[in-house]
Amino acid sequence: MKLLEHQAKAQFRRAGIECPMGRVARSPEEAERACSELGPVVVKVQVPIGGRGKAGGVKVARSPEEARAVARELLAMEIRGYSVPAVLCEELLEIGQELYLGVTLDRDRRKLVVMLSFAGGMEIEEVAERTPERIAKLWPDPFSGPHPFEIRQLTLNALASARGAQVLTRAQLLSHLVPLVQRLYQLCQELDATLCEINPLVITKQGLVVAGDGKVEIDQNAEFRHHELARELGEDAAAASSGEDELEVEARRRQLTYVHLGGDIGVIGNGAGLVMNTLDLVKQQGGEPANFLDIGGGAKAEVVRNALEMVLLDPRVKGIFVNIFGGITRGDEVAKGLIEARDQLQITVPLVVRMTGTREEEGRLLLEAAGITPAVSAPAAARRVVEMVAEAGR
Ligand code: GDP
Ligand code: MN
Repeated sequence: MKLLEHQAKAQFRRAGIECPMGRVARSPEEAERACSELGPVVVKVQVPIGGRGKAGGVKVARSPEEARAVARELLAMEIRGYSVPAVLCEELLEIGQELYLGVTLDRDRRKLVVMLSFAGGMEIEEVAERTPERIAKLWPDPFSGPHPFEIRQLTLNALASARGAQVLTRAQLLSHLVPLVQRLYQLCQELDATLCEINPLVITKQGLVVAGDGKVEIDQNAEFRHHELARELGEDAAAASSGEDELEVEARRRQLTYVHLGGDIGVIGNGAGLVMNTLDLVKQQGGEPANFLDIGGGAKAEVVRNALEMVLLDPRVKGIFVNIFGGITRGDEVAKGLIEARDQLQITVPLVVRMTGTREEEGRLLLEAAGITPAVSAPAAARRVVEMVAEAGR
C-alpha cells in the first residue's frame, strides 16, 4: 500500500516530524480557498508516483486566483497514466537546501537502512547511480533503533560530501537530525513500512527543517495489521492502491494467490512449484502465460470456480490451462468446480485440464460427461492449449 503525499505527511505529523501547513483540494475553488488561508502556495498533484515535479505536477501559485487556475490545470492532467483526483496546497517554502532522508528495508542485511544525503531533491536517483558516496548509510540495531551518536556520525558522513554553503551550523544540524531520524525510523517500524522517505527534506532560508515531500509504502504482507489506517485513508486508499495491478488487487480481495504476467494463456494449478512448472511448459510450447494462480492444497469446488472467474477477468485471456496434481486435492472436487464454473460463467475460451492423483478417475469421468476432455500429460496439455489459442487467433 502506497500512501499519497498528504497521507504520508499526516503520519509524519503524528510522529512529530515537521511538515508545511497544507490543505487537500479536490476542486479549483478549494485550492483558491486554501491559498487565501495559507498565502503563496505550492500546488502538488496527489498521485502514487515519484517524479511529479519533472512531470509538471508541482506548481507555485502566489495568489488565490492563480491557485485556482493552477489547480484547474493540474486536476485535468494525466500523469503517467494516473488521473489527478486531488492536489495538495502547501504554504510555499523558501528553500535554502534540499536534503534526502529515507528509511527503507535492506533485504540483504534484513534490517532497515537509514540514508541521508545533502544532494537531495529531484536528482537523487542520479546521485545514487553516479556518486553513491554522497549518500551516507546507517543500519541501526532494530531493537534499540538508531542511537544519537550513530545519527551524528551519519550526519557527519553525509556532510563530508555536501557542496556549497550550509544554512545551519553543524551543531544546529545535529540537533535537528537526531530526533528527526529517530522519529522517522520508529514510524517506519510502527507502520511496517518498507519505505519512509522525505525528499526533499527542506532547510528553509530561515533555518527551519521541514518535510517537503513524503513517501510511505507499507508492506503488503503487513496490511492486515493496519486496517485502522486503511479505513482512515478511506476513498483515497483506493486511489493510492491503484498504483498496483488492478487484477492483483481483485485477486487479493478474493483471497487468491495470483500474479498477473500479461500473456494470453490463463494458468491455474495447485502448489506454487507445480504452477511455476506449468508456466515453463506453456513457455516451452511458445505460449505466453497470462498469470500465476495457485489454488493451494485441498481446494474445494468453490475455490476452483473462484479461480476460473478470476483468470477470466483478464480480458487478454484466450485460453486456460488447469494443471492439478491431486495429493490432498481431490480430482472430483476440482472437476465439479470446473464444470460448475464453465456452466455459470459461460466460458467460451478453450479450457484444457490435466489432472492426476487422488480421485483422478472420478474426476476424469465427471469431466468427460460434461464434454471436457482431460489431457494425459502436462506437456501434451500445454501444447494443446497453445495450439488452440493460436487457432482461435487465426
Ligand atoms: P516529486 O517530484 O514527486 O518528488 O515532488 P516533490 O514534492 O519532491 O517536489 C518536487 C520539487 O518541487 C522539490 O524538489 C522542490 O524543489 C520543489 N518544491 C516543492 N515544494 C516547494 C516549496 O514549497 N517551495 C519551493 N520553492 N519549491 C518547492
Ligand atoms: Mn520528492
